[in-house]
Amino acid sequence: MKGGRSILRGSVQYLKGVGPRRAERFAKLDVHTGRDLLYHLPYRYEDATTVDAISELKVGQDATVIGRVVSKGVIPTRRRLRVFRAVIRDGSGHIECAWPGRPWLDRTIDKGDLLLASGPVRFYHGRQLQPREHIVLSRASDERGASGDGSAERSARSGEHGERPAAGRVFPVYPATEGLTHRQIRAVIHLNLASLLSDLGDEDPIPGDWLQELSLPPLAEALRTLHRPSAVARVERCQRRLAFEELFFLQLLHARARARLRHEVRGVAFDAPPTLTRSLLKALPFELTAAQRRAWSEIEADMGRPAPMNRLLQGDVGSGKTVVAALAMLKAIEAGRQAAIMAPTELLAEQHRRTFEKMLGPLDLEPELLTGAVTGKARRQALERIGAGDARLIVGTHALIQEGVEFASPGLVVIDEQHRFGVEQRRRLRESGEAPDALVMSATPIPRSLALVLYGDLDLSIIDELPPGRRPIRTAVRGPESRDAAFDFLGDQLAQGRQAYVIYPLVEESEALEARAATVMFEQLQARFPDIAVRLLHGRLSSAEKDEAMRSFLAGDTGLLVATTVIEVGIDVPNATVMIIEDAERFGLAQLHQLRGRVGRGAEQSYCIVFHASETPSERLIAFERKTDGFELAEEDLRIRGQGDLFGKEQHGAVLLRFAQLDRDFDLLEAGRRRARAIVETDAGLSKSAHRRFRHELDLRYARREALYHVG
Ligand code: ADP
Ligand code: MG
Repeated sequence: MKGGRSILRGSVQYLKGVGPRRAERFAKLDVHTGRDLLYHLPYRYEDATTVDAISELKVGQDATVIGRVVSKGVIPTRRRLRVFRAVIRDGSGHIECAWPGRPWLDRTIDKGDLLLASGPVRFYHGRQLQPREHIVLSRASDERGASGDGSAERSARSGEHGERPAAGRVFPVYPATEGLTHRQIRAVIHLNLASLLSDLGDEDPIPGDWLQELSLPPLAEALRTLHRPSAVARVERCQRRLAFEELFFLQLLHARARARLRHEVRGVAFDAPPTLTRSLLKALPFELTAAQRRAWSEIEADMGRPAPMNRLLQGDVGSGKTVVAALAMLKAIEAGRQAAIMAPTELLAEQHRRTFEKMLGPLDLEPELLTGAVTGKARRQALERIGAGDARLIVGTHALIQEGVEFASPGLVVIDEQHRFGVEQRRRLRESGEAPDALVMSATPIPRSLALVLYGDLDLSIIDELPPGRRPIRTAVRGPESRDAAFDFLGDQLAQGRQAYVIYPLVEESEALEARAATVMFEQLQARFPDIAVRLLHGRLSSAEKDEAMRSFLAGDTGLLVATTVIEVGIDVPNATVMIIEDAERFGLAQLHQLRGRVGRGAEQSYCIVFHASETPSERLIAFERKTDGFELAEEDLRIRGQGDLFGKEQHGAVLLRFAQLDRDFDLLEAGRRRARAIVETDAGLSKSAHRRFRHELDLRYARREALYHVG
């Protein structure tokens, strides 16, 4: 940054060994500037600190060797298996390496290449190494420096210099792209690392005393080590350093958004005497669970403050979120305001209306329904009552935030998003003048760590306890051989008057295919249970047909519903006791858990039978069979899938984490969040001199984030 020119800020094109053509390829990796290159970190390391001398390899041992390819070729075996073989030589001797079934390697490994390979040493006409992993450390072709591009030649030579097959080296492997190999990237970084780091100097967005408290290294040291570690053991601490930076600035961004809402937008302090809320608590036929009481008191306190509430209420299916939401709505109403609850579909809105009618009957409070299905005169009247303030508790769908709907005095909006995330709705709500309080209900338990990353700008209330006396749903994961027994069991339950679901996965590429599979099964089941009303529900039906099928099941006229995942996640049929899920590997754990939550809502024992198509059930299905707690399953899911999937592009407003691993770095997430909130509390504008560097860094990152954000 000092002086005029900064290679950190300059285009990567002008760095040694790059040039315009490579710069274009770097751009594909989102590397545009020198700083980007510095932050383009290896995703794994080949540890050659324990390289074995080829002459000393013994059959049966697991070895890592580095040697030059002296000959190679593809050899067909008698069993028509094509094997790629290469003989490699180091200072001590030579050995044959063999890759059965991978003839294409012939195109990527050449004579003269320097190869690192690790795997078992077997006996096959002599010693043979069968690499589990290998990387080409340097290319014979690069070393000849054949290209006319002087910089490429320099980079290649330097690359070779850094990759001498001496013991005691760790080889970083970089994310690469077409036309830009990890070796070329490594060479470019090697050429420029010293000057990039010297340009960086001791610039560090994280204060030194924090680093000490968290025992993390300074930035320059972390970057140097990550690019050129002397030992693999040094890597993790440096990765955590970058993870902290990333998590802290993300939390700072969240904290500022939260502060802006709290300070700049006028809200309502609901502080009327608790008349209605107290009556409801008295009228309920049960006591709140400890978790419900905690969530309610958090919400109550939050609503009492003048800043607008912006809170996520998370709880497993059946954990009793609705009662808590009802209390919040009553708190707004007893303060003379209106409260609305917005459901994702008409059916769910109607279900909420019935629930509230029952629950609030004793309080003499009539819910008003407003959905797309309310039309004509009924609609005009509803709009009038909402506009005049006569309707105090309003239940609806997105129709509630459409044009022409004017609330007399909106106080609280509850968004029942079930498994949808509602980022868009939240944004829309904030845009309206005086901000009503907002409570978002989600039945998708996600680990706290992930919630903080995804919804760091929301406050979080968690109901992590089910009401007492629930019978856990019995879950069985079965292979195809158990189908008959399972359907016999289903028949028994249906004969006893119970209802059931059979679910097919959504085949993304082909709705037609999915519909066909479900149709075939529907016909089979209809033939098998002639006395039962069986209905079919899939994505190809019109919405009127879907609606009709769902309603018939709700009313109990349909005994068995064969459906693809279009069945509504929030639907509540207490008489349904069996959930059969076909081809379950196609579902994510969260989805399976949601589906299972459709049963077990009444007094009878419920069952969930899950079929796997493969020979043995996946780790995910085994977890599903063992665990019924949604939060535990979510943690498990995070562990099995890795966080990559959870931040998938389909997730609206997803945040990309490049360095942090939530399971490993949870402590850093909490530490970053605490600090971010403390800073913003006293200095939301980040204008104090001690905080200016944070603002500078946020701007830097924010500009980069634009490109990193996937919203889709
Ligand atoms: P969620 O919306 O979280 O899926 P609900 O609010 O629909 O859960 O509650 C599920 C069922 O449990 C409802 O029938 C509700 O009346 C009942 N319930 C809620 N809280 C309690 C409680 N503390 N004790 C007993 N039953 C409860
Ligand atoms: Mg519910």
